[in-house]
Parts: sequence; C-alpha cells; structure tokens
Amino acid sequence: MSESLKAVKGMNDILPPESARWEWFEATVRRVMQGYAYQNIRTPLVEPTPLFVRGLGEVTDIVEKEMYSFEDKLNGDQLTLRPEGTAGVVRAVNEHSFLYDGAKRLFYIGAMFRHERPQKGRYRQFHQVGVEALGFPGPDIDAEVILMARTLWRELGLTDVRLEINSLGQPAERQAHRAALIAYFEAHADQLDEDAKRRLYSNPLRILDTKNPAMQALVEGAPKLLAHLGEASLAHLEGVKAALDAVGQPYTINPRLVRGMDYYNLTVFEWVTDRLGAQGTVCAGGRYDGLIEQIGGKSAPAVGWGMGIERVLALLEDGGVAVPPVVPDVYAVVPDAVAAPQVIAALEALRALGVRVQMHAGGKEGQGSFKSQFKKADASGARHALVFGADELAQGMVAVKPLRDAGAEQVLRPLADLSAWGPDLRQAGAEA
Ligand code: ATP
Ligand code: MG
Repeated sequence: MSESLKAVKGMNDILPPESARWEWFEATVRRVMQGYAYQNIRTPLVEPTPLFVRGLGEVTDIVEKEMYSFEDKLNGDQLTLRPEGTAGVVRAVNEHSFLYDGAKRLFYIGAMFRHERPQKGRYRQFHQVGVEALGFPGPDIDAEVILMARTLWRELGLTDVRLEINSLGQPAERQAHRAALIAYFEAHADQLDEDAKRRLYSNPLRILDTKNPAMQALVEGAPKLLAHLGEASLAHLEGVKAALDAVGQPYTINPRLVRGMDYYNLTVFEWVTDRLGAQGTVCAGGRYDGLIEQIGGKSAPAVGWGMGIERVLALLEDGGVAVPPVVPDVYAVVPDAVAAPQVIAALEALRALGVRVQMHAGGKEGQGSFKSQFKKADASGARHALVFGADELAQGMVAVKPLRDAGAEQVLRPLADLSAWGPDLRQAGAEA
C-alpha cells in the first residue's frame, strides 16, 4: 500500500457532525448582517504580495514571518495566500471605484492563511467573519460595528466575552508618543527581547503588541498613547463610549491595545474571553482611515473587524451551547431494490413540496433487511418512515409510519395524491 496522504499541518478538515455547527454559525452571521444592512463581498484567496506588505506594514508579525508567499511558476508573479481580509476588500473597493456613489457596509466569511505555530485556537488555515464599513467618518459607525459583534454573541448564546477599547489617535499624535516610547525602551534596553530590539526604531508601537510573557511588566509601564491625544481624537473616543453607554455595553479602556497591523488609527477594540487560554481574542478591529489611500485609492474613512470562527466555535463548545440538529423529515424504507425507480419518482415529488427526504439506498445485493432499514430510519432522526412495500406499491400506495410519537398509527397514503398529504410531513419550522 502506498503511504497515505495527510492534510497540511495546521490546516483542518471539518466533517459532519462538526460542520453542522459551522453552518449554523454562518446562518446566524448572515441573519445578523442583514439586521444591520451589511452586504456580502467575496474576494480572491490569493492576492499580489505587495498588497499585504504595503497594507499591513513591513514591520508586523504577519508580513515578517506569517505569510504564505510564493512565485507563480508560470509567470513569475509574487503572490500570497491572504492572511487577513481587510486589504483584499480595500483593493477590490478601489479597483471597482465602489465608493463612487457613497459609503458601503460589507461583510465576508472565509479562509485566511498564516504560518504560525499550530495550537488550540491558532491554525495555519483558519476562518474569519469580517465587516468593513467604508466611507463613514463618525464614531457612530465605530459603535455600530462593535455592537454587531455583541448582537452576534447574543444570537449565538455566548456570554462572558468582554470588550476592550483604545484609541490610537492620528499619525501626528503617534509621532509624539513614539519619541517617548523609544526613550522609555532605550532606558530598559536590557529587558528587550530580539523582536523588540529589532523594532525599537522601525516600529516601537508594535512592541506593545508583544506576546512574550517576559515583556509584559515592561510594556505595562510604557508611556501611554492616550496621554498624547488631541481634542479631536479624544472627542471621537468619547463618541464611541457614549454610544456604548447608551446601550449599557460595558467596556474597559486598555491603553496597551495596539493591534497587529499598522493601518489602524483612532478607535481600536477587541472582544476577549478568559476561557481560551492565550488565544483569548475572538474578535478584533478598529478604524483605518489611511488604508484606502495607502493602497492606491481615493482617501476615505473606514472601520471594521475580523472574528476568528474557530475560536468562537471553541467557546460555544466549551460553554455547552447546543446546535439545533438538521435531520430529514422522512426516511424512505425500500424493502425491494426493484421498486427503486418508482420510489425515486415519489421522493423527488415530495422534495419538490419542501419535504426533507433521506432515501435508503442499496441496490441488488446491498438493500439490507427490513429490520436494518428501520434501524437506519430511527438513527436518521426523521419523524416518519415511508415504507414502500411491494403490495402497497402495487395499489399505488405508501405506508407512512410515525417514528417519534409513541402510539401514533401507521397510515396508507395514495401516491397519486402526494401534494395533498406530503406537505404535512414537513417538520414545524423546517422551512427556515
Ligand atoms: P493574535 O493576537 O491571537 O495572534 P491577531 O491580532 O493576529 O491575533 P487579527 O489579525 O486581528 O488577529 O485577526 C482577527 C481574529 O482572527 C483574531 O482575533 C482571532 O480570533 C483570529 N485569528 C487570528 N489568527 C488566527 C489563527 N492563526 N488561527 C485562528 N484564529 C486566528
Ligand atoms: Mg497573530
């Protein structure tokens, strides 16, 4: 036997019944997005490498060490599997002059790729839901996107996710803070790790985003960007806070919250849980007013977030949140394979009426006994079995046998008149 092939490390298969949880999650996301009038956008998984280098910043974890970049063997193009969604959305918006007739609210769901050390809540192919509100300058839209995540937690039945916010101000304010930051880290040079030393002059703010536990105390004592914010930036932050207060959403101001990409300004935020160990950030985002212009578009304000689907699902699982199972309405028991064509015709007609049908399939040798077929009917979760016995079929009838209601009687139904009784087999709420 040849050696069996395995999935790439850090990239996961999602099989049933686990995939049902994903589908339920995605359906919930789409419902919430509609509730806020956000429209779906789909961009390629592969983008030109310079998009991310220019968009995210050269001195960031992603660009320095996490991107799957490669050369297209056929034409030499430098390409990268997208590590995040915002840069691609902005590229698409620019390319199609999508803001020409006004601001837009967009969302996406899809795979992202980062070469990280795989561990619980951290994978090499992972999935994000993201929202991007483009063309809106005010704190009202910052609050809106933050509250969309809150609505999603509620719809999913998730509790204990808390909100942290901060303001990164504007570039000029960060410039003033930068000098203070460099002076502080220079004074503690002996405590800097390799990453920090390398970033001290190229991107000192990034040091605040360190994951190194040994650096936490040092970072804790660093000069705060908040202290360097001018009136306009502070007013923007107050605007966001006022909206959160108005709906009673608690938050903490975390002055060390800087986020992993360079494109952010003003509001940044994270939804965090204590239940996933070191991978506690389930949703993160902020305002990125400079990015559209930076990657070649006409300057426009923007704000958004990305949410790690694996982390949200891990939280749901950890919290014992039950996912409504998807089961067929009926299971078709077919005692004799000879009847298959007639059965298939009847089942197709039933499905056209909106009934969910699982057909027993076997063929000449594999049809299985009556008893084993009923076992499968039971296991399918269907409420009824349709029994296509030879005698009944000869009379143009089928037996409808209740599987879940003890005491309910089996009845015979005419196949010629499917539309009269078929729809009754649909389970309540199954149409949704
Ligand atoms: P972290 O600090 O955990 O590395 P990040 O700042 O790199 O996260 P973002 O780029 O802001 O994360 O992505 C948004 C969200 O996507 C994160 O909050 C997290 O929920 C999820 N995420 C990021 N990287 C991974 C990964 N490798 N595997 C699974 N989920 C991830
Ligand atoms: Mg990261």
